[in-house]
Amino acid sequence: MITNEAVLDALSRVQEPELGADLVSLRMIRNIQIEGDRVEFTLVLTTPACPLAMEIQEQCEEAVRRLPGVRDVRITVATDVTSSAALPPENLVQTVKNVVAVGSVKGGVGKSTVAVNIAVALAQRGAAVGLLDADVYGPDIPMMMGCERTPVQTDGKFQPIVRHGVRFFSFGCLVPEETPIIWRGPLLHTGIRQLLKDVLWGELDYLIVDLPPGTGDVPLTLSQSVALTGTVIVTTPQQVALRVALKALKMWRQSGVPILGLVENMSYFVCPGCGIRTDIFDSGGAERAAREAGMPFLGRIPIDLRIREGGDQGTPIVIVDPRADPAVAFREIASRIAAQVSMRNVMSLGRS
Ligand code: ADP
Repeated sequence: MITNEAVLDALSRVQEPELGADLVSLRMIRNIQIEGDRVEFTLVLTTPACPLAMEIQEQCEEAVRRLPGVRDVRITVATDVTSSAALPPENLVQTVKNVVAVGSVKGGVGKSTVAVNIAVALAQRGAAVGLLDADVYGPDIPMMMGCERTPVQTDGKFQPIVRHGVRFFSFGCLVPEETPIIWRGPLLHTGIRQLLKDVLWGELDYLIVDLPPGTGDVPLTLSQSVALTGTVIVTTPQQVALRVALKALKMWRQSGVPILGLVENMSYFVCPGCGIRTDIFDSGGAERAAREAGMPFLGRIPIDLRIREGGDQGTPIVIVDPRADPAVAFREIASRIAAQVSMRNVMSLGRS
């Protein structure tokens, strides 16, 4: 006779490759039901953007099929995004499971472009996603998302604007464009906190925050105010003259904010006419820097006219041309980020 224990035992031999532990310890197997020679259960993934979902499902099926007496295995796949275990002194957005910041050492490296495309890519996979434009020096997310209208306010709270399946809000919505404000120190701290608590974010799996460039105050404010799972750093290959990048990474680390990994943007250019690839800004610098600093390298994105046009026209490339190579690259990076988030959350759970 097939028993629950035997099924659990078989599944405890299947590893979640990204998370480095077995599915049973990770509580990813639920609702086992046995009827005659049929075994049914639910496989609960830690993110809808799980890069290895098919592989894990196949391994589960194989493991259970090997049990004597089993003829039929039925797996229902569900998702339950893990929550950040980071406990800020005061959590301003309790309904958000994970806050992921996107930062850069310098401006103009494509940080906002990456933030927009990964937010939309995660939403396309079925996650509940928010996007907060905290780049006070150039709040251009409304343009990139294709919606610059003023958000609706009810009882002193703002409704986020919904576009491409993502709820977003921008610093630019609070401050008219022509108002020159020098945001720094306490003012910046107050502004960011206001954006977090005065926007009705609702239940979110991921809130992606587009940081101002540099290693400044905002990540620190975030880590004190929300469940900040970590930061993704965007860089171009040439500025990663290793020394500079490593110095910056050290500074991020010293501020106590976990780094989920590095993204190399504007990595190379493929000529649409002849197909020849050119490494305009050199290539591979970010991967080397990530390796040296002992942190994950999340992937590289080419320079592509369609990325810039998508940004200017408010339709990110993952929407307008989902099969294009850069869109595939953005989706893979989004999946790797989601995997890093799950991994950190599961590891912190193990420690608590
Ligand atoms: P940052 O947020 O770092 O200041 P942005 O995301 O605003 O940078 O990007 C700066 C400009 O470069 C934008 O016009 C954007 O569309 C463009 N851009 C960013 N990444 C790419 C890319 N991989 N290929 C082509 N254009 C890009």
